[in-house]
Amino acid sequence: MPELPEVETIRRRLAPVLEGATIEAAEIVDPRLTRPVDPLLVADTLVGEQIVSLGRRGKYLLWRLESGRTLVVHLRMTGSLRHAPPGGDLPEDPYRRATLLLDTGARVGYRDVRRFGTWELLDEGHLGPYLATRLGPEPLSASFGAARLASLTAGRRAPIKAFLLDQRRIAGVGNIYADEALWRARIHPLRPAGALDRGEIARLHRALRAALRRGLELQGSTLRDYVTPDGDGGGMQHEFHVYGRLGEPCDRCGRPIERIVVAGRGTWLCPSCQVA
Ligand SMILES: [Zn+2]
Repeated sequence: MPELPEVETIRRRLAPVLEGATIEAAEIVDPRLTRPVDPLLVADTLVGEQIVSLGRRGKYLLWRLESGRTLVVHLRMTGSLRHAPPGGDLPEDPYRRATLLLDTGARVGYRDVRRFGTWELLDEGHLGPYLATRLGPEPLSASFGAARLASLTAGRRAPIKAFLLDQRRIAGVGNIYADEALWRARIHPLRPAGALDRGEIARLHRALRAALRRGLELQGSTLRDYVTPDGDGGGMQHEFHVYGRLGEPCDRCGRPIERIVVAGRGTWLCPSCQVA
């Protein structure tokens, strides 16, 4: 599933294509994408809208429209957005669920193999409350300091890995960057979040931001379906320290990486660097 660095990479690539353009035609062929709202109604509302800006919160892409509405796109497991420049065509694709034609002549296609992705069209004034109930702070924002992380973890008995995955605590972190951050911070994924001391919180804060920033620099990680809107893959998967590396030597101490399950998710760690 695309996480903060992947979604932000998509946003950066797509923003110059979308911003200022008007949607001339919209086709949504999968009712699951917009349910319970009729996809024809969503497509109809989109036509004629100018896209003012493309933003991001957590793993959501926010298409801010001239009318004040926002199209909120979540890629979930296998969603991806591709674009074809003016005059160009999108490749044939049996998994395309939606296509937009812009007044610039560019086309944007939404592809989703497993169909868990969502497109929600929110009326003006609804975006704030929508995000507030779903998302904690942005971990790369200037205001997200170690003290903020300490106050969020205080009293939490959930394992720190489960805490990091909970979008209501911190936005945008998923399985890959949670495991990588905990390895960097030398913290065992099963440690209760509220039991971390000040030094550990400071390490985790640094580690989480460093892992996410590195992911951004490398334009995300390509494992299955993630590609940028230009069809390129990211490079972060070549730099994983623990994620998916069962049995390979730890980059720090050489001990074989182990895999456990935390909060129902495969979790990779170094048993000597990350002690329970
Ligand atoms: Zn190690």
